[in-house]
Amino acid sequence: MNRKISAIQEIYKEGKRRLENAGISEAELDAWYLFEHVTGISRAVYYGHPEREIREEEKERYFYYIEERKKKIPLQHLTGEQEFMGITFHVNRHVLIPRQDTEILAETALERIKAGMRILDMCTGSGCILLSLLKLCREKGITGTGMDISKEALLVAESNAKRLGIPAKFVKGDLFENAEPGKLFDMIVSNPPYIPTAVIGGLQEEVKLYDPYIALDGREDGLFFYRRIVRECVSFIKRGGYLIFEIGSEQAEAVMGLMEAAGYKDIGMKKDLAGLDRVVYGRYNGE
Ligand code: GLN
Repeated sequence: MNRKISAIQEIYKEGKRRLENAGISEAELDAWYLFEHVTGISRAVYYGHPEREIREEEKERYFYYIEERKKKIPLQHLTGEQEFMGITFHVNRHVLIPRQDTEILAETALERIKAGMRILDMCTGSGCILLSLLKLCREKGITGTGMDISKEALLVAESNAKRLGIPAKFVKGDLFENAEPGKLFDMIVSNPPYIPTAVIGGLQEEVKLYDPYIALDGREDGLFFYRRIVRECVSFIKRGGYLIFEIGSEQAEAVMGLMEAAGYKDIGMKKDLAGLDRVVYGRYNGE
């Protein structure tokens, strides 16, 4: 006997079909997240209680999100959140959506964090790197500051900090412009904009249309912010302090070279899960 497909299953599957037809990658997963986001229905209920009903208003909202997703609006802008290091961060169009690759940067930092350290996250965006470090090292008594040029991004970071109950300081400025002189950090982490301007047009639409352009654009060769951060951070990093960058997969050699020339030692590189160069780190060895 054929099992009758329930109304909720019909609705979910219709959304999935629409995304597939629109050529959305991960259509099935995205349809599921939107369905769950709108209805609160878990997979267990979906399969175990297919007779469950959803309200007309929920159905309309689900299809509204499906139509938005068809326009390549990122899933995370519709649900308003993204998980990073096992923590849920709120996001909007003013911040780069946290990427799984960036967890390599967070892990590289975690391996090096010691009690009482002062940490700076330069170009903090949603605050996901800084706040996850502070949360995961809570018992180590570390303090953290996030800097960003975007006021709107800092509002997102501040609200994430508040919601997660993580004390952190946020400073608006063009890189170190408003950093407190003489207050040195033990570790500076940064995922700066690093895509060469000419490459941005070829990125997937979700990224090029909806991630903030200023979070992507690394200017002509993509290295603009590495040059500036490596040069400017020497006034704000302790001797022996760590500088840890996320990098574009073609940039390891160049960024390691910049750090070496600026007096860093113990320079190294880490790959991401796809086997691409992703993180460069070193320790400041100057005065
Ligand atoms: N990793 C981002 C991407 O997927 C770029 C982020 C950045 O420039 N820092 O395109």
